[in-house]
Amino acid sequence: LSAEYLARQDRWESNARTYPRHLPIAPAEGYGSFLRDVDGNVFIDFLAGAGVLSLGHNHPALVRAVTEQLGQLTHALDFPTPAKDAFVRAQLSMLPPTMRDRMKMHFCGPTGANAVEAAVKLCKVATGRGDVVSFQGGFHGSTHATMALSGLLSPKQAVPNIMPGVHFFPFCADGCDTDCASYLERSLRDSNGGVPLPAAVVLELVQGEGGVYPASAEFARRVREVTRSLGIPLVVDEVQTGCGRTGTWYAFEQYGIEPDVVVASKALSGIGTPVAVIFYDASLDTWAPGTHIGTFRGNQLAFAAGVEAVRIVREEDVLGNVRRRGEQIRGRLAGLADDPHVRDVRGRGLMWGVELADPATGRPATALAAAVQTEALQRGLILELGGRDDSVVRLLPPLNVTAEVVDTACAILVAALAHATA
Ligand code: PMP
Repeated sequence: LSAEYLARQDRWESNARTYPRHLPIAPAEGYGSFLRDVDGNVFIDFLAGAGVLSLGHNHPALVRAVTEQLGQLTHALDFPTPAKDAFVRAQLSMLPPTMRDRMKMHFCGPTGANAVEAAVKLCKVATGRGDVVSFQGGFHGSTHATMALSGLLSPKQAVPNIMPGVHFFPFCADGCDTDCASYLERSLRDSNGGVPLPAAVVLELVQGEGGVYPASAEFARRVREVTRSLGIPLVVDEVQTGCGRTGTWYAFEQYGIEPDVVVASKALSGIGTPVAVIFYDASLDTWAPGTHIGTFRGNQLAFAAGVEAVRIVREEDVLGNVRRRGEQIRGRLAGLADDPHVRDVRGRGLMWGVELADPATGRPATALAAAVQTEALQRGLILELGGRDDSVVRLLPPLNVTAEVVDTACAILVAALAHATA
């Protein structure tokens, strides 16, 4: 049956998201960390809708919240509604106390890219400047501007005249021994030969699509310092890292920095009802009403689910679970360090990557990563790939995943790698 669905999709959707090409299944039903396909096969889902399903598939409380809302009001443009009001208050309550009062919030549309677009426009209007600084390996979306901002080259090379004025700097990952922050600082301070003073610096603190690279703490601190001293708004893209993924509600909390703009989307509602927002410092609020509008910004189902998701994260110590399960993954995968095909195992919270390389040449092991993914799928585990060469096997489980499921998934990954390298 799966094969029939896949073949039909191939016929009409010429540029389908790449997932079905690597993971040839047709899902029919999900529950918690599990997915059942149309043929009745059950998989552990460590892709979780690309990090969207933070509380797993069909969390009963979220289903209830959405269902109740469904009978009342589903879509209400920009009008204030009880669901929207509760959502805003719940979301603001999750910001650090020092940020709550000074941040405003804007609804940007259904997707993460919508919100990154809004963030960049907000900063351009507020500063009157047109250039933007971004980082190599970062991912910010697939719209015109967000693709231009993304530091992964291959998809955008095919698009002529993509948004100009983006300046890329090296991203200083944990363990990097180059002083990337000084290079950035010198370029930004050099008014005679450096980059023009930008409207914003856009940073993904743990690069997800780029291959699970957490930024070095020192780098994040210095980026914050230099942007503040030069009056450049710092936009932190928490589309993937946000809503608990890294063990704190937002990743910037762990880095001890306060951005001027926070971008959030994927897991805001916990169940895939789309919503995307920015939180921004009130001083940036100079854009005229209408600078970023759009029809689908009043998704009441997302608001209702999002309020419930925040309650569950708070009451059920989901962030504690993220940290504990993250440490469990670190422990279970530690043995992979001895495998000559494994260059690195790294992660934060429940965002992990196993980077594979050819032992002889040191080159990224793209084919091996795909083989591991296929083998893991056959053994009942859905994994994603990432990194500029697709050589990083990524784990992105629901945040309420149990210890037993983590154990099983890690055992499958280890076995799949052993099988693929045998
Ligand atoms: N920013 C980051 C960090 C992301 O991971 C993604 C999606 N993978 C996006 C932006 C874009 O989000 P969307 O696909 O919803 O437009």
